[in-house]
Amino acid sequence: MPLKPIAPAARAAFGRRLRAWYRRNHRDLPWRKTRDPYRVLVSELMLQQTQVSRVLEFYARFIERFPTMQHLADARPKRVMESWEGLGYYARARNLHKLARHVTREGGPGALPSEPTELRKLPGIGAYTAGAVASFAYEKRAALVDTNVARVLSRVFAPKLNPKRPRDLKKLWVIAEQTLPRTGKTAWTQNQALMELGALVCTARLKRCDECPLARMCKSAE
Ligand code: SF4
Repeated sequence: MPLKPIAPAARAAFGRRLRAWYRRNHRDLPWRKTRDPYRVLVSELMLQQTQVSRVLEFYARFIERFPTMQHLADARPKRVMESWEGLGYYARARNLHKLARHVTREGGPGALPSEPTELRKLPGIGAYTAGAVASFAYEKRAALVDTNVARVLSRVFAPKLNPKRPRDLKKLWVIAEQTLPRTGKTAWTQNQALMELGALVCTARLKRCDECPLARMCKSAE
């Protein structure tokens, strides 16, 4: 079934409530204080499949050892792997290193591009990571859908959609695009807010609807 567009009033209320909640409740995380694309990328890759509390410790150490993409590109693979040790899913470290070498090599782009379509051309960067770098580093008006965001969007707007089905996930990307605010700066806050709500309030295991700013408009509120 085709997706019904979300009414402008619902879109506006969704964004307003979400962002107001974020301003009062978000965690103070180091990658939210930077707009350095390389640092944003490192944090995003580390956060895939790993808890925030664990990433905090590794992120600081990694950035201290490899403060720029060039430092990472110049490092020996062994040293990169050592810095990732304990974080698991080592393919992420290998891919990140490969990416740094690709970007900084002669004839490479030199820096991470700002547009999601350009970012996606780089090895190892998928749709979510491209959206995250574009939005969180460059403050572009870019949508991003990871597991947390997909869960929140489906519960609020389309509970029949199953984020695990590729066809439904595509529809959730459409909802994410439709609900993006007008400016990139506001989209930065809203994207962070969506992810934070999915991590703290509307989690996979528990819906804390009584604490949720979206409860009045959510189709899955209990
Ligand atoms: S009201 Fe409940 S189900 Fe809906 S987004 Fe909030 S926590 Fe999730």
